[in-house]
Amino acid sequence: MKKVLIAVMLCSGCFAIAQGANLQKDYTAIEGKVVEWRRDIHQNPELGNREFKTAEKIAKHLKSLGIEVQTGVAHTGVVGLLKGDQPGKVIALRADIDALPVYERNDLPFKSTVTSEFLGEKVGVMHACGHDTHTAILMGVAEVLSKNKDKIKGTVKFIFQPAEEGPPPGEEGGALLMVKEGVMENPKVDAIFGLHINSQTPVGVIRYKSGGTMAAAQSFTINVKGKQSHGSQPWSGVDPILISAKIIDGLQTIISRETELTNEAAVITVGKIKSGVRFNIIPETAEMIGTIRTLDYDMKDKLNKRMIEMVETIAKAYGGSATCEIKEATDITYNEPALVDQMLPTMQRVAGIENVQTQKAITGAEDFSYFQKEAPGFFFFLGGMTPGNTASFPHHTPDFKIDDSGLILGVKTLTEMSLDYLNSDLTPVLQNKIKGK
Ligand SMILES: [Zn+2]
Ligand SMILES: [Zn+2]
Repeated sequence: MKKVLIAVMLCSGCFAIAQGANLQKDYTAIEGKVVEWRRDIHQNPELGNREFKTAEKIAKHLKSLGIEVQTGVAHTGVVGLLKGDQPGKVIALRADIDALPVYERNDLPFKSTVTSEFLGEKVGVMHACGHDTHTAILMGVAEVLSKNKDKIKGTVKFIFQPAEEGPPPGEEGGALLMVKEGVMENPKVDAIFGLHINSQTPVGVIRYKSGGTMAAAQSFTINVKGKQSHGSQPWSGVDPILISAKIIDGLQTIISRETELTNEAAVITVGKIKSGVRFNIIPETAEMIGTIRTLDYDMKDKLNKRMIEMVETIAKAYGGSATCEIKEATDITYNEPALVDQMLPTMQRVAGIENVQTQKAITGAEDFSYFQKEAPGFFFFLGGMTPGNTASFPHHTPDFKIDDSGLILGVKTLTEMSLDYLNSDLTPVLQNKIKGK
């Protein structure tokens, strides 16, 4: 006992260590409830911007805890505000709440049999990305923190976000709309944390990356204009198909010759080409569409600029013309390195040093990035694979499964990160300016 006491006194994170020990009772009390909530939400999934019942359950729970609740944010979002007994900084915690148009195919007793309509088709609805676990975890964190207001120096904002997978066509939604509606203001958020369950990471393990973690996803449309001619007389026309081939080649050299791939990965993919009607006609035009993935703000800007330049000049060199229009979809999920450094000891204390592991960047995208454009944020991954298993079904598939024994670590981690952040007088020195601000 004496030895422990000395260690605690000497440790710079002594307050945090005491917190961990004090809250164990609360974690034990909440674990069963979190699993119950998760299973209920799993069995009753709702598609993006249609999370009516899920939102109702969340709002009811937050209200029962005495948390100030705002509903109908970005359609079906719920925002809770918990003020600690002492004033201080503001932390936001985010969980996404939407499901996917997938028929569930497994033998779980709480399997979804819900169907709905998506783009005019009847579809199954399933929490095939694990957002049910995020919702239940954050409901658990809200309960634990609301019982420990005396330990909170500052305010915790709980953001339950709809439509992370994207709103239905023609509708706005997700994190971007929440930000537009002012979720990061009043009170202004100083830092934001979020997690994603992962079906292929073992229960008990947390994975993270500092800096660019998930990619910015942009789409592009290239329109090539040539001159139509007989297929037997190419010299009398300008061939937009040949120009397209040269453009595709050129775009890949932006990646392979101009991008410093040792810093971060980058991808340009042409996903569709459309041109021509028959074998002996050189057509007038060609259209290409594709996606761009980047993990660094400067790389993203440079790549966009070079794509436009290259598309226009290549087409011109072959006697035609072309335009390249780039559209934003989701920005970079960027973990502010100073904030990661500040929170790492908390994660290691909660999960065990050996269970907090670094990971590679992911070229998939996540709209948590929009919150990180407003305030520094840390988004990490939580293990959901049954202990002892070595493989499991990936996200967005009908066989996807999460072992809910992993959820309590999510509750503990978010709770203690919040307390440690709010109760520390440290404000991380931001190494990278937040872009777009
Ligand atoms: Zn997903
Ligand atoms: Zn997801």
